[in-house]
Amino acid sequence: MSDFINVAEIFGENVFNDTVMQERLPKKVYKDLKKTIEDGKELDLATADVIAHEMKEWAIEKGATHYTHWFQPLTGVTAEKHDSFISAPMANGKVLMSFSGKELIKGEPDASSFPSGGLRATFEARGYTAWDCTSPAFVRQDAGGATLCIPTAFCSYTGEALDQKTPLLRSMEALNKQTLRLLRLFGNTTSKRVIPSVGPEQEYFLVDREKYLKRKDLVFTGRTLFGAMPPKGQELDDHYFGSIRERIAAYMKDVNEELWKLGVSAKTQHNEAAPAQHELAPIYAQCNVAVDHNQLIMEVLKKVAARHGLHCLLHEKPFAGVNGSGKHNNWSLTTDDGKNLLEPGKTPHENIQFLFILMCVLKAVDTYPELLRESAADPGNDHRLGAAEAPPAIISVFLGEQLEDVLDQLVSTGSATHSLKSGKLETGVRTLPNLAKDATDRNRTSPFAFTNNKFEFRMVGSRDSVAAPNVVINTIVADAFSDACDILEQAEDFDLAVHDLIKEYAIQHQKIVFNGNGYSEEWVEEAKRRGLPNLKSMVESIDAMVSDKAVKLFEKFNVFTKAELESRAEIQYETYAKAINIEAKAMIDIASKHILPAVVKYTKQLADTVIAVREAGADAEVQSEVLNEVSRLLKEAKEALVKLGEMTNQAQEKEEGKEQAFWFYEEVSPAMQALRDPVDKLEMIVSKEVWPMPSYGDLMFEV
Ligand code: ADP
Ligand code: MG
Repeated sequence: MSDFINVAEIFGENVFNDTVMQERLPKKVYKDLKKTIEDGKELDLATADVIAHEMKEWAIEKGATHYTHWFQPLTGVTAEKHDSFISAPMANGKVLMSFSGKELIKGEPDASSFPSGGLRATFEARGYTAWDCTSPAFVRQDAGGATLCIPTAFCSYTGEALDQKTPLLRSMEALNKQTLRLLRLFGNTTSKRVIPSVGPEQEYFLVDREKYLKRKDLVFTGRTLFGAMPPKGQELDDHYFGSIRERIAAYMKDVNEELWKLGVSAKTQHNEAAPAQHELAPIYAQCNVAVDHNQLIMEVLKKVAARHGLHCLLHEKPFAGVNGSGKHNNWSLTTDDGKNLLEPGKTPHENIQFLFILMCVLKAVDTYPELLRESAADPGNDHRLGAAEAPPAIISVFLGEQLEDVLDQLVSTGSATHSLKSGKLETGVRTLPNLAKDATDRNRTSPFAFTNNKFEFRMVGSRDSVAAPNVVINTIVADAFSDACDILEQAEDFDLAVHDLIKEYAIQHQKIVFNGNGYSEEWVEEAKRRGLPNLKSMVESIDAMVSDKAVKLFEKFNVFTKAELESRAEIQYETYAKAINIEAKAMIDIASKHILPAVVKYTKQLADTVIAVREAGADAEVQSEVLNEVSRLLKEAKEALVKLGEMTNQAQEKEEGKEQAFWFYEEVSPAMQALRDPVDKLEMIVSKEVWPMPSYGDLMFEV
């Protein structure tokens, strides 16, 4: 890789984007495709044939030998099946490179090995992938050669969604429809489409690959299952925004280059709060593209790490005791003519449309907090949400001083007459420029925070796709808009009706607004008084998906059928049970084969020492105390190990699904902790020479 990167030149060079399409496609075909992209008009096969041919020619110029439909089944990662472009050999023994319109728009991967949550019996194995032409195709180049990747949605033979993308596209459609309905009432006649914009910030850890390979817990589960805290954690706050070390900087440079070529606008990078933790944020994009790009970001972070002798940990909590990783999902609503509907302007109290939309979002979040919470649930996030440094598991909205003041005026007097001013930032130093201050400070403890002109949903886990949270946000906001339109469309006096509704929503939903410290114990109490749900774990939150309220909501907007929701809940329970089962088995394996034998050996060394010291006629009291302490903890660990084995075995007898998932949560997880406790204490007193794996200190500080 060259040292100098010309970003403008390489950006998007491997993407079949608008510029390429305009250049290479016949005018009529280009126009037809644009119609499909922008208005959802169906694409005919003849047009698809031309597009496929041009796409193939372009991809071959980039070195591609294969193409793949690239999709996101419910496994949490992307899936692909590669086909080469070659056609059957001709009489002369040569082959042609071909790619038809049919192959472009439709794929038929055998769906039986992907999770379907009971939607499909194994004998009904057919699944279809369908081209999402609103997310551009790209060529991925790596050691395996180059492949044309076509973003697709994945459905069953009977049309049920088996992936992340299908419901996402459906939710975008619902939101588009309801927002346009609302905008027309407010007199907007020009906007043709409304699209949610999403910018997901990605946090991750980097560790040395050699050390990583010696940590079987990281290898099998993505997080450490044992590990005593090193003398230094993150208490000095010296890592956050600290200068980036050369090895990491070189890594980030390659990551950026790869992403830019793929048209992913990697923008911001910095060190995060915990040692060895970092963040990458792209510039926001249209919701489904942002979701695809986030998958690419995770893929590239991992791939490039291997090239640099590093390993990238995307788990939400790779290390106990320091910050975990999240994925802040920044969300706003943009019209095709470029207006951000969440832009308050300088005087939000006068911006009636903004206030109205804001109140609708409050209503949406306050009506469906459990669904939002559930959308951020994954096994790893259980260790993060509600911990001292992550958003609590309670959903609330942060509005900031200025908007909260407007809300207070609305609630107390029925109308808002003024907005708090932002003013200038006084630094007290003449040579520093006067900065215009934001009207609102930040709140890093809120799970759903309004920041300038967007909402930031901070609960999402670092390893999860951002599809599910956006499906929920899009749909619940569409629902609030739809309810409001039902009323406003009937109103005789529109202005008065808007005014009344703003006031009504403000009063009814003020309880979801919280501007204080979301990490505090007082908030937990206060939230309880307000009647806000506090769903502490993944398994406790899954039921929200299949509640009557949820089924009604998602069916109303054709985002999910009841069967689809039930299947997803089933998959969630299974995912949880499988994840904890693997963790428990990994713990048992590591403790039995590595840790306990090492400690046993160490007790032998200590015992020999005690005898030798005594034989030399000296006092062996200290040596003997250490031996006793090690033996005591060894016994505790052995007993906990036996118990964990029993609990894990019993789990296999439980009914798959909810019952089994709860067993893992209530019985196996505590048994894992009970084994970890004595082992971590042992790590602190057993000689480092005999400890069978790298420590937290080795992993976090020697990258
Ligand atoms: P902050 O520091 O407030 O978190 P940044 O400017 O760093 O905000 O942006 C964080 C993420 O939010 C980036 O991915 C950015 O592109 C995205 N973002 C910025 N504005 C919007 C918007 N209007 N809608 C959605 N995402 C946005
Ligand atoms: Mg942010």
